[in-house]
Amino acid sequence: MAISTTNPATGQVLKTYDPMSDEQIDGAIERADLAFRQLQGTTIAQRGEWLTAAADLLDAERDETARMMTTEMGKTYAAAKAEVTKCATACRFYAENAEKMLADEPADAGAVKAKRAFVRYQPIGPVLAVMPWNFPLWQVMRFAAPALMAGNTGLLKHASNVPQTALYLEDLFRRAGFPEGTFSTLLVGSEAVEKVLSDPRVRAATLTGSEGAGRSIAQIAGRELKKTVLELGGSDPFVVMPSADLDRAAEVATTARCQNNGQSCIAAKRFIVHTDVFDAFAEKFAANMSALRVGDPMDEQTDVGPLASERGRDDIHAQVQDAVDKGGTVLCGGEKPAGEGWYYPPTVVTDLRPEMRMWSEEVFGPVAGLYRASSYEEAIEIANGTSFGLGSNAWTTDPAEQERFATDLDAGNVFINGMTTSYPELPFGGVKNSGYGRELSATGMREFCNTKTVWMGEGAPSGGAGAHAE
Ligand code: NAP
Repeated sequence: MAISTTNPATGQVLKTYDPMSDEQIDGAIERADLAFRQLQGTTIAQRGEWLTAAADLLDAERDETARMMTTEMGKTYAAAKAEVTKCATACRFYAENAEKMLADEPADAGAVKAKRAFVRYQPIGPVLAVMPWNFPLWQVMRFAAPALMAGNTGLLKHASNVPQTALYLEDLFRRAGFPEGTFSTLLVGSEAVEKVLSDPRVRAATLTGSEGAGRSIAQIAGRELKKTVLELGGSDPFVVMPSADLDRAAEVATTARCQNNGQSCIAAKRFIVHTDVFDAFAEKFAANMSALRVGDPMDEQTDVGPLASERGRDDIHAQVQDAVDKGGTVLCGGEKPAGEGWYYPPTVVTDLRPEMRMWSEEVFGPVAGLYRASSYEEAIEIANGTSFGLGSNAWTTDPAEQERFATDLDAGNVFINGMTTSYPELPFGGVKNSGYGRELSATGMREFCNTKTVWMGEGAPSGGAGAHAE
């Protein structure tokens, strides 16, 4: 795949880049390794100052950065601006909270026959980050902000269609003050990942992307005995029960499906509605979906811009066609528009059956599958009847049912009467084929730390917590 920016609103290639040579890749790994050693001589407070400077730059450069992202992958300008702001917020969150998250944790010294015992969190070294294009700034930042605060260094292999955002990120951390090599962008295709991950100086990898990419990276990392965090695809259920506020549920369902032009791992993709409210919900939902404005992503009035690639649009249209061919009913949308740009209309398909692709595959665009359930048990069966387990949503005002959903939904997160989203304060990740490990919160930060047990016998001052200088 060429490393280039192609504007999805026009199909025009705007910039192309030559992939880095083996020597250039090696140089970047060497600099990441040296920078890691240099960072060990810095304090959390110092790194926090640099990360805060990165947040300030993001805020100051919000509009131009957002424009670059919109022309690279088609998200609306409004959504791109919100993404830049979210990244700045996450940088500040980690700058302010890392000290607490990385503090030594005291253990019960008496129970382990020690004078002193505690757990210390230490960085492990250069981490390879293989990232997708759909939130080109945020996906990287939610790895980079905690990893750099912990004292690791990062090597970014971004998706091949967002090279400008990839280069911006390297430049951002350099201008913020981090030592040279702390965060480097590798302009390479996916075939270079094996070489980088096999390099002994690279200690771990994180991937956000498809199941196929996850399997490939996990195999290499398994052979090399390196830690991985995998954030993969999802087909999140959005369950609506009879007690739900239907207007609100239908409104949030529309946003949950179509945010980021429908290209979000945690977009709600399967809408499972109790039969008592199925018709009423279906009518409201289809009306809301039809009312969304599809068009130029730079226009502030646009709700849904183009898909990021022509192949992506062809894929979802083929999934819709497959459902129709096998007896599915289209409530709205479903037609591929003519003309320039990779647009696709918000679409709702119902009467789905297990033999249809939409039943089991992730649908990465503004296309909703609508399912009918006759009971709570059937709703759970459909919701969990997928190989994915990333996010999940349930709408009910019954407190007992809310508790049951929180336990019974087999997913990395459950949002009740709200839309799945990510917060720096909360762990984020999936189960089953949606991957493993967590990003964000203290849990995410510690994924790339050595959780070191320290046991001290005679001669140590008694007590639990250590006196970690940082
Ligand atoms: P993708 O094709 O897997 O690409 C993601 C990244 O992996 C890109 O940098 C890509 O490089 C690289 N890659 C692809 N195949 C690879 C391989 N065999 N070995 C090593 N690297 C490889 O995914 P995408 O189409 O960009 O993104 C959409 C997918 O990501 C969806 O499934 C979505 O649900 C998932 N996603 C998950 C999360 C989450 O947090 N769980 C968040 C966002 C997206 P090239 O671009 O050079 O091919």
